[in-house]
Amino acid sequence: MSILVVGTVAFDAIETPFGKTDKIVGGAATYICLSASFFTNKLNLVSVVGDDFPNNAIQMLKDKQVNIKGLQIKKGEKTFFWSGKYHNDMNTRDTIETQLNVLEKFDPIVPEQYQNSEFLMLGNLMPSIQKKVLDQMKTRPKLVVLDTMNFWMDLFLDDLKNALKEVDVLTINDEEARQLSGEYSLVKAAKVILAMGPKYLIIKKGEHGALLFNKEEVFFAPALPLEEVFDPTGAGDCFAGGFVGYLEKTQDVSFENMKRAVIYGSAMASFCVEKFGTKRLTELTDEDLESRVKEFVDLVQFDISLVKN
Ligand code: AMP
Repeated sequence: MSILVVGTVAFDAIETPFGKTDKIVGGAATYICLSASFFTNKLNLVSVVGDDFPNNAIQMLKDKQVNIKGLQIKKGEKTFFWSGKYHNDMNTRDTIETQLNVLEKFDPIVPEQYQNSEFLMLGNLMPSIQKKVLDQMKTRPKLVVLDTMNFWMDLFLDDLKNALKEVDVLTINDEEARQLSGEYSLVKAAKVILAMGPKYLIIKKGEHGALLFNKEEVFFAPALPLEEVFDPTGAGDCFAGGFVGYLEKTQDVSFENMKRAVIYGSAMASFCVEKFGTKRLTELTDEDLESRVKEFVDLVQFDISLVKN
């Protein structure tokens, strides 16, 4: 019972209306692992960094019981770097710069002991690398979740479509769902995307919550209305980490349980945005998480009796 996580481990530089950071530690896999670590201590990481990546950031992952045997450290090379800017509307962002650096020639090697992981979280990075990781699994995982973004749709759409044929759950945001499907309506977009391979689709809508689709059903989870959002970076990855972490913990991949996993994912994302970078996640306690999930329940619970004509 474990989750294999692949994705970027990175340096980010972020600008929001509330401030600006120099290079700080980020990356899709970093956020996924930090978030999923609230649910399981069986996390196996596959990623790559340069020798400019700080030891204390690797230690932070180890402290969360993340197995880093599959983290390659390349001598004389530079870690993946991303910089982004958010405007007053924190739901959209501009990528200022993406330096692939060490990712450009990354050949993922899944250590033997990870090859039977039951859950596979293919975090955001090159679709061909995501596929290479999937191909190294000895047994087909119980659930394969893939997260991606517009950057990879622009550059490697065919590789992405190829990977999508083999995944169970795709998580993307609303703009990306529109780009991938060519449909504006998210309901139509979901139909088109589900025909590409995934059995389930999660469309993240930032402060407007998230939708979970399969061919027959749809579920909506709100986002918690927060007074202040400092930095949305990593929210999508924390969502994914909470989602897959909860499924691993409960060992139930039914649609009903995925609804609960979406709420836990949304709760993790709501913490992530409260401070810059990974800071809020490193301070978070299990009690904080439980009381936030209760806030979600209170937010959407109501009694109603249908008015008959
Ligand atoms: P999110 O806000 O959840 O979409 O993810 C933000 C994280 O994704 C940042 O920490 C970045 O380092 C990382 N990131 C940005 N662009 C890419 C990319 N093209 N591929 C993989 N990871 C990326």
